Amino acid sequence: MSDSIPDIVTDLDMPDRTSPDFDADAEFAASLTVEQRQALSSQLDEIYHQVPATCCAGSGECCVLTDDEMREGYATMFPLYLAEYVRIAEYVRHEEPAERARDLLGHTQERPGQCPFLGADRGCTIYPVRPLICRTYAVLDKETIDAAAKLHADEMPEEWVRGFVRREGAMHCPRVTVMQPDKLVQHIHNLISYTYERTMARLSRDVFEQLPEARRKAVRKQIRRRGWPTRWTWGGFNALVQARASWIEQHLKTYWKRAQLNDLD
Ligand code: SF4
Ligand code: SF4
Repeated sequence: MSDSIPDIVTDLDMPDRTSPDFDADAEFAASLTVEQRQALSSQLDEIYHQVPATCCAGSGECCVLTDDEMREGYATMFPLYLAEYVRIAEYVRHEEPAERARDLLGHTQERPGQCPFLGADRGCTIYPVRPLICRTYAVLDKETIDAAAKLHADEMPEEWVRGFVRREGAMHCPRVTVMQPDKLVQHIHNLISYTYERTMARLSRDVFEQLPEARRKAVRKQIRRRGWPTRWTWGGFNALVQARASWIEQHLKTYWKRAQLNDLD
């Protein structure tokens, strides 16, 4: 991270996992039954399967924030849905060496300059379970976005089409090749009609209901905003599921607000 970037998050990082503010027993994913976890994985795969596969130069640049992106309130791997968080957390527990898993699960910085899963070789260390946002990144080029917007102008609400152009137009990389063009029509429809978001939000709300009641109540009391806490960041969710309810009551609102994510609603 450059020196010119204001230090807007590190002062609000959660204490590490050895602190009394963390609930060492809060192995949240483990509180879901095996059947629930399998069902969640299948539902996520069903969604991911609709995204056309791509091939790219693998530079890892889109997994790191530029100075401008940091100032403008962007975050890597955002939005991450709670349903996806749970699956990735389980993957990390099983696939990573114990020390790295502890570090990743104890990582509570909401908006690090670089995705915590970016490997030293610039590859993604959670590739099989990477979230939707990383799968959809730069699938559509500008020409395809413009053509899709024209095609759907009469059949979709104007604000949906405008939102689609704004969102997808901001995720551009000329070094991406679409390997499954036959999936593009359905993918574009899902993006414009918010089908991905709605499905992810539903799955995430179901997962949220599995949190211990005291924690759920504390979260709801602190943050009353549409779409929350279904979408956040890796560090934010680590804090949400592992911090004690008392910490959530005292600090969550400030911690969340200070993330300054530019499209969190
Ligand atoms: S999408 Fe582009 S920026 Fe991102 S890893 Fe691939 S080549 Fe690099
Ligand atoms: S999860 Fe993987 S692909 Fe997505 S931002 Fe992180 S390193 Fe990049």
